[in-house]
Amino acid sequence: MKTISIVIPIYNEAEVLPQLIRRLDDMSKTLSDYNFEFLFINDGSVDMSLERIKDLCKKDARVAYVDLSRNFGKEVAMLAGFDHAKGDAVIVIDGDLQQPPEMISQMVKWWEEGYDDVYAVRLDNEGEGTVKKWFSDMYYKIVQKMTSEKIYPAAGDFRLLDKKCVNALRELRESARYTKGMYGWIGFKKKELTYIADKRAAGTTKWKFTKLFTLAMDGITSYSTIPLKIWSYIGFIISFFSFLFLIIEVAKTLLWGTDAAGYPTLLAGILFLGGIQLISLGVIGEYLGRVFIETKNRPPYFVKEKSKHSGQHSIDKH
Ligand code: UDP
Ligand code: MG
Repeated sequence: MKTISIVIPIYNEAEVLPQLIRRLDDMSKTLSDYNFEFLFINDGSVDMSLERIKDLCKKDARVAYVDLSRNFGKEVAMLAGFDHAKGDAVIVIDGDLQQPPEMISQMVKWWEEGYDDVYAVRLDNEGEGTVKKWFSDMYYKIVQKMTSEKIYPAAGDFRLLDKKCVNALRELRESARYTKGMYGWIGFKKKELTYIADKRAAGTTKWKFTKLFTLAMDGITSYSTIPLKIWSYIGFIISFFSFLFLIIEVAKTLLWGTDAAGYPTLLAGILFLGGIQLISLGVIGEYLGRVFIETKNRPPYFVKEKSKHSGQHSIDKH
């Protein structure tokens, strides 16, 4: 019998947990030919989530958990899930039931037909605010312009991954993670499913604007080096025009003599160039900061505690 691991990153989701486990249990009944593992990754919750998960673990042998030493963010929590999941396939699902667990049986069907990565594409995100939607639309448009890889904005982390894909993802151990970009990068045979996102079952979204902004920057900087390169083009264009300007000014001075007026233009020029230099330094800083973090080569997370039957595979050191 094959085992399917359901990985659920949990950050302050105590309110939804009872509903979640009920829905997962119902789902598992429709797939009686498989063993299930419900692997909860407690990402430093400060509410009763961990206690609830431990209770579930006592009652249900399929439930396992990994308690991270602090809040590392969903991207890293998923990596912890990939490291600890024992299944032949892993399905990542949010704890807030925005993604219907009923989709899983269809995912499993495609998996049995030989697909390695069956991802769910959200048709309509009911649960999102308009501002958030607008920002995310804009963002994906920009990122898509910067990269040749195809990005599926609506395809999130709700997907079934074959063991092969999970092992591949486990080898990508950067700590500034943008998992959405990694799924495409690792390759393997993909298949798309569609679903309509529900509203959160309970609780509130765990994403703050600043956190999303960091994720967005991670997305750009891990996808593309265009922001680094663009400054040489801009510099070249500006130098070219300043040179033309210089020649014109010299010619004018030779023909009609000097005039001391024009300091506003001078000031504008200096401020404009100063601004551009600061932006380009900032961009270099963004990348350099990430290089710095990755060269420290720290483990992406630490485990405080885990359930007895959640065995960890050995992680190859690179
Ligand atoms: N999450 C997490 N760590 C965090 C933030 C979120 O593990 O630092 C989990 C959260 O518990 C949920 C999933 O990631 O299971 C998605 O979070 P949320 O629903 O708040 O995000 P949204 O759906 O609003 O994008
Ligand atoms: Mg959500």
